[in-house]
Amino acid sequence: MRELRGDLMVTDAKAPSGGTGGRVNLLGMPRPALAAFFAELGEKPYRAEQVMNWIYRAGVDDFHAMTDIAKPLRAKLSEISEIRAPALAAEQRAGDGVVKWLAEVGQGRAVETVLIPDATGKRQTLCISSQVGCALDCSFCATGKQGWNGNLSRAEIVGQAWQAGRSAAARDGAISNIVFMGMGEPLLNFDAVMDAAAVFMDDLAFGISKRRVTVSTAGVVPRIYDLAARSEAALAVSLHAAQDAKRDMLVPINRKYPIDELLAACRHYLRASGPRRIVTFEYTLIKGVNDSAQDARDLARLLADLRCKINLIPFNPFPDDVFGYQRPAEATVARFQKLLWDAGFAAMRRATRGDTIGAACGQLTGSFADRTRRRARHAARLGSLAQEAAA
Ligand code: SAH
Repeated sequence: MRELRGDLMVTDAKAPSGGTGGRVNLLGMPRPALAAFFAELGEKPYRAEQVMNWIYRAGVDDFHAMTDIAKPLRAKLSEISEIRAPALAAEQRAGDGVVKWLAEVGQGRAVETVLIPDATGKRQTLCISSQVGCALDCSFCATGKQGWNGNLSRAEIVGQAWQAGRSAAARDGAISNIVFMGMGEPLLNFDAVMDAAAVFMDDLAFGISKRRVTVSTAGVVPRIYDLAARSEAALAVSLHAAQDAKRDMLVPINRKYPIDELLAACRHYLRASGPRRIVTFEYTLIKGVNDSAQDARDLARLLADLRCKINLIPFNPFPDDVFGYQRPAEATVARFQKLLWDAGFAAMRRATRGDTIGAACGQLTGSFADRTRRRARHAARLGSLAQEAAA
């Protein structure tokens, strides 16, 4: 297993604000920062509200279209600032309604965003990326295999939701939930993620309820305390094992912040965020690794005193999985879930969605092109084998 890149654990590498040519990118700027920006220009704070309305309600990125703003100010804004989301390089749709976008974030790098409509079509969850790749190297996750290639700016994070909201796919129903469960570890890009979460929850921007903006972490413990102090976003924790020895293997950051420290941070979050809050624990079930009846009982004991729900995610396979992990049989998943129910937990099973286009949990790599090339190489190789066989 690769060594953890230790210095990334608690320090955030600074990402640029996402502006070009010295222009300030206003996309993803939280309302107080935008008001300060206008104050510096000698303008009234309500300009921030007007501009936010244009950006997020009208989906406008051209200052000249902002007709309730005086022309000289529009000209000034176009000169010194911009509203720029990452360019969309590809869009893929799965038969089950899931849509996946590939967004370019410079230097040939790209990240993935996934829109997951529910069966009723009323709720649409957007799963967004916070980093290019990931430093944490969880052994069962495709994103970890590519390592860490940089933090996204708040404009690149909010831009994913802004683009998705403007697309035809989302037009029939607004985005109701946003989860930081795409590529990357959100708590290792803390400031940009906090700014983005504030914009998602702001009524003048996305206006999504605080219970429906979820930051998911593999367990960057100090930053869970910071999250509790700074944001009202919901917390999800990728637990995956109830024993340290097992979790060390699956989620290597556990060696730095073991389970008891992680749960202490969760308890702090619950105390700090009020009696109606819960923590969601994600538990990817892997055949023969963490799916036994004993594992379920250990998990139940571990979480007994925590206000929580448990999301069970049957393992999603991905290419280049050197460990040869497998999804447990249906009956094993059902048994695990039942044991948790019997112990009094709300335990849901996360439906596998988008897997035909590599958009399911743990399958995001930000490289449509590579995969297409790989498939093409594979097809070519099969073709030549077939020719050899025929000769
Ligand atoms: N780094 C954050 C955000 C990623 S969320 C975190 O770890 O929480 C993505 C979720 O999918 C995590 O719970 C992750 O553990 C899970 N996951 C990763 N690879 C998976 C796979 N191959 N099958 C199923 N779930 C997986």
